[in-house]
Amino acid sequence: MSKIKIEFPDGTEKEFSIATTVKELAASISNSLAKKAVGAKFNGQVVGLNHQLITDGKIEILTKDEPAALPILWQTGAVVLGAVLQQLYPKMYFGESNVTEHGFFLDTDNREGQVAETDFEKLSQHFQKIVKQAVPLEEVEFDVQAALKLVGDDPYRKELINEQATANQKITAIKLGDYYDFSVKAVLGNTSALKVFKLLSVAGAYWKGASSNPMLQRIYGTAFFKQKDLDAELARQKEAHERDHRVIGNELDLFFVDPKVGAGLPYWMPKGATIRRTIERYIVDKEVADGYQHVYTPVLANLDLYKQSGHWDHYREDMFPPMDMGDGEMLELRPMNCPSHIQIYNHHIRSYRELPLRIAELGMMHRYEKSGALTGLSRVREMTLNDGHTFVALDQIESEFKKILQLMVSVYADFDITDYRFRLSYRDPANKRKYFDDDEMWERSQQMLKSAMDDLGLEYFEAEGEAAFYGPKLDVQTKTALGGEETLSTIQLDFLLPERFDLHYIGADGQEHRPVMIHRGIVSTMERFTAYLTEIYKGAFPTWLAPQQVAIIPVNNDLHLAYSQKLRDRLVGGHVRVQIDDRNEKMGYKIRQAQVNKIPYTLVVGDKEVAADQVTVRKYGEETTTTMSVTDFIKEVTEDIASYSRE
Ligand code: ATP
Ligand code: ZN
Repeated sequence: MSKIKIEFPDGTEKEFSIATTVKELAASISNSLAKKAVGAKFNGQVVGLNHQLITDGKIEILTKDEPAALPILWQTGAVVLGAVLQQLYPKMYFGESNVTEHGFFLDTDNREGQVAETDFEKLSQHFQKIVKQAVPLEEVEFDVQAALKLVGDDPYRKELINEQATANQKITAIKLGDYYDFSVKAVLGNTSALKVFKLLSVAGAYWKGASSNPMLQRIYGTAFFKQKDLDAELARQKEAHERDHRVIGNELDLFFVDPKVGAGLPYWMPKGATIRRTIERYIVDKEVADGYQHVYTPVLANLDLYKQSGHWDHYREDMFPPMDMGDGEMLELRPMNCPSHIQIYNHHIRSYRELPLRIAELGMMHRYEKSGALTGLSRVREMTLNDGHTFVALDQIESEFKKILQLMVSVYADFDITDYRFRLSYRDPANKRKYFDDDEMWERSQQMLKSAMDDLGLEYFEAEGEAAFYGPKLDVQTKTALGGEETLSTIQLDFLLPERFDLHYIGADGQEHRPVMIHRGIVSTMERFTAYLTEIYKGAFPTWLAPQQVAIIPVNNDLHLAYSQKLRDRLVGGHVRVQIDDRNEKMGYKIRQAQVNKIPYTLVVGDKEVAADQVTVRKYGEETTTTMSVTDFIKEVTEDIASYSRE
């Protein structure tokens, strides 16, 4: 067979000789298309410009103006980076290269010293040279032995070759000069389009993402077709960095995570703990007022509990391994609180009069998240969930669902959360094995959630494959500073666990009936919520949440400290979190420090204030000050705290 049949998006078909490249094919249509082309989608798969077509298929040429073009540009950038590094560090080994949402990375291991960000200028000059020379990138094929020979003693590329070898007889590589990339993704025809690029950062990354593997150096970069797009991306990154809760958490001394002590196991410093305690008190009070009964249950339970619940079958890979106590007892750290609340329900015989029965807890749980996924406080391995389980009769599902949504919306208003969207999460119809097996239950409950949302007139989108193993859910998706999306709140219907634990209540008819369970989390885990709030407030917490609400700065310790102490005591009496800055520092410095620490109110106290029982107040972020009586200030700050408002 020397000809292949290619179908174009408009349905026309044309014959080409076998091994025609994407670029040649584009040129056969028009010169201008060949110029703009960056690759193609061939039978659904994105391929590079120099990719040879050897089978019949459908093609869609991709041009610079399409979103799919950037990943091709970025992957080319990763290959150029590899070629540069190979020139400069001949002993370097190369792991995987890939694109991210915002650029590319290449994993490296240099036996003769690490690459530092201070080397980027030198690297960029070499990069630029390769771009200017418009060096072609070829897709080349080898047999396994020839490929292995090419990479010498590089253990990572050897593994990449062997992985390809198991899937395929032939090994494909992208060749740039004498550099070979075996990650093999679509790339441009030559390096000339990479004029606007930037090397960004170096970070550690485990080979293949497994913490038992060696730690490599991951070098990040990005590139665009236009300078203005790169500028916009760099501005976005700067903003993201300024909002990043890990950066702010460090600057404001809120929390830390030390992998030496335990990856994903955060330590809350006093200021972070104050924010958390404030959130916890707020949400517990709010829920108690909404009819929830708060409980405490253990983080450990017999493994049998999680066998009965189904977690052991369906959720094991996220669970810590059980502890063998040596006497036949196996204890498990709970990954969810539901089985615990079921024990509370089942401890008494329940009557229909008690329903909806709402059990809630700030429940600590442990999940063995992958080390590569751990992120500051937003994805951790030990977490405390604002958890709640409502046990309802069948005909109460909808009204309870709406009630929970109302609670959610009211809580969001108190925290000033406005940028969120609702996601209805269904099971993945193509992978039903992952889920509890009851088609009718799934259809019925997915439909029920949908109609409740429609009734309330709330907008939502639907996502298959995002359900819990026991039922569909409504998730509230919020944006993170880094541009991703994560689940904050969730409401989940569950017909399965009541079955598994044989739950019932006595109905008005004196008979036993099966309740339905609704799992819900309003403010998520304390960890993720604190991370989220830190990012949306950029560390400037509203007064009611601020770890320190008021700073008192005496102009002169000798003259004004006694008055400041009395003032502090009056504020403490009004439940205000206040500290005196009586360090031997200049006043201007102390005022700046109060701003750096984003303290909502700074009070300066001098002769005038002492004489008139007044304070001079500067609010966070404002240049002007106001002088007022102490009584008026206490009134203002306590009203501010009570209002939950950010203003
Ligand atoms: P995700 O998809 O984010 O892993 P999930 O669907 O597994 O979450 P649930 O079992 O519904 O989560 O847990 C309830 C809530 O706990 C989630 O909505 C999320 O806000 C939060 N959460 C889940 N995993 C973590 C974690 N590792 N660290 C911090 N918070 C978490
Ligand atoms: Zn639950």
